[in-house]
Amino acid sequence: MAKSIVLITVDCLRADHAGFGGYHRPTTPFLDSLAAESFVLPAAIVAGTPTYYSFPAIFAARAPLAIGRDILGLAPGEPTLASVLKQTGYATAAFSAANPYISARFGYGQGFDVFRDFLDEEAAQSDSPRDEAAGNGHGSSGGRLRRMNQRLQRLSRTAPSLARLYDEVYFQYCQRWAIPPPKSLDSLRRFPSADRIVDQACSWLATVGKQPFFLWLHLMDPHAPYYPTQKALELMGWAQISAQRARYLNFFWQRSDLRPESLMRHRDEVIVLYDSGIRWVDAQLLRLVETLRKLGLWENCILALTADHGEEFLDHGGRCHPPGLMEELICVPLLLRVPDTPSRTATSPFSLLNLAPTLIDTAGARPLAGFQNESRWQQIRTGASWDDPAVVECVAGCTNPFHRESGNRLRPRLLAVREARYKMIFDFESSQERLYDLEADPRELRPLAIGTETTVRRRLLECARRHIERTRNERNANLSLRARLSEMRLEWAEPAYPSATAGF
Ligand SMILES: [Zn+2]
Repeated sequence: MAKSIVLITVDCLRADHAGFGGYHRPTTPFLDSLAAESFVLPAAIVAGTPTYYSFPAIFAARAPLAIGRDILGLAPGEPTLASVLKQTGYATAAFSAANPYISARFGYGQGFDVFRDFLDEEAAQSDSPRDEAAGNGHGSSGGRLRRMNQRLQRLSRTAPSLARLYDEVYFQYCQRWAIPPPKSLDSLRRFPSADRIVDQACSWLATVGKQPFFLWLHLMDPHAPYYPTQKALELMGWAQISAQRARYLNFFWQRSDLRPESLMRHRDEVIVLYDSGIRWVDAQLLRLVETLRKLGLWENCILALTADHGEEFLDHGGRCHPPGLMEELICVPLLLRVPDTPSRTATSPFSLLNLAPTLIDTAGARPLAGFQNESRWQQIRTGASWDDPAVVECVAGCTNPFHRESGNRLRPRLLAVREARYKMIFDFESSQERLYDLEADPRELRPLAIGTETTVRRRLLECARRHIERTRNERNANLSLRARLSEMRLEWAEPAYPSATAGF
């Protein structure tokens, strides 16, 4: 009988913040114990960043820009991991923590018997003070104070040092006096926490009976704004961080008036909040696996854990996860637990383009029609390596693809070819390339001088050329058309896309 599959995707989880990825803090004690009996792939690379350029590969084994860079999400009828497994007789369910880019409206509900994306609930529940964050913190005091503030602000723009002073005083004023103290961390959180998602998954698992199943959970706990549960802070030994402090840190981290050197002031505390989100995911996955055991489903169950992209903490001056190709964004954890197989580490670069075919192969389900990319299961199982580099791509600067009219999605491509040692980034906007030797420079601080390593450059350039040519030649006109028509219908139904969803 084919094995069941549980796929866990954790938004924003950097590879180097998981214990089994070498992190020094205890973010993942349960997953570390699971890793000891699993296949671990320490060089797992996403196919695109952020969410909207990563998930087409995870679900449809398709390069993110392959059916047109103006298309978001999956095309109607595009074969997906879920639809293929459903056709093979699997029961299928998804519980996704309110990330709009992977909701049913972008095709991710295809193939699922049960699909919950929590988006309605999330909109109704949050009382996160976003207006205050935008600088409207005076609330109803209005009138005189607001006019005085506007005059001061105008005056401050006459000299850079005055502008910095004004911005700092105004930020501190808003944080300390203008906004009422938050009720709790729970009241600030933007997304359903992992315990709620796992609760729903456990209820569904109790209904599946003997047939093989595919369960997908997408968890948002490490996603900004970083508001972990109080319990997670306690598990990490940081119970002293109050809700008010967490809010201060999050608002500080979003400031656009500060340079990276100034943001460094609270970077470590912000990372503490992010790490606590990971710790909560770990605790809830332990609960999920306990339920699978209790229901007698664990022994026939594959579990894969990965992420759609990483997260920046000023590694190269940036924050969060705008489209980009540096290691902190493209390297994600990948753990593959397969019952009755020994644990092993596969160190070759593994593109998430190959994840869906690999999972289907590992489960012993029927081979796929319509998936272009290959299974790596035989190599992973036997400890063999492979040479093909991973290719990652995105549209430079496309931080809010909902704003279609601005041409955001049609800007030039950024593309990286990532081997075990060398990585080349091609910037089609500036027509520049940067080559890194990751062995000598793992943090990508010193691109190799132009004119050096010409053989490597030629090899990686040829790989980039083949990738672009292949995706162009294989472009499926029917899928492109269906995706465009589907999006037009979405626009008729709901012309104003929410701007608050930018940057997932
Ligand atoms: Zn994401």
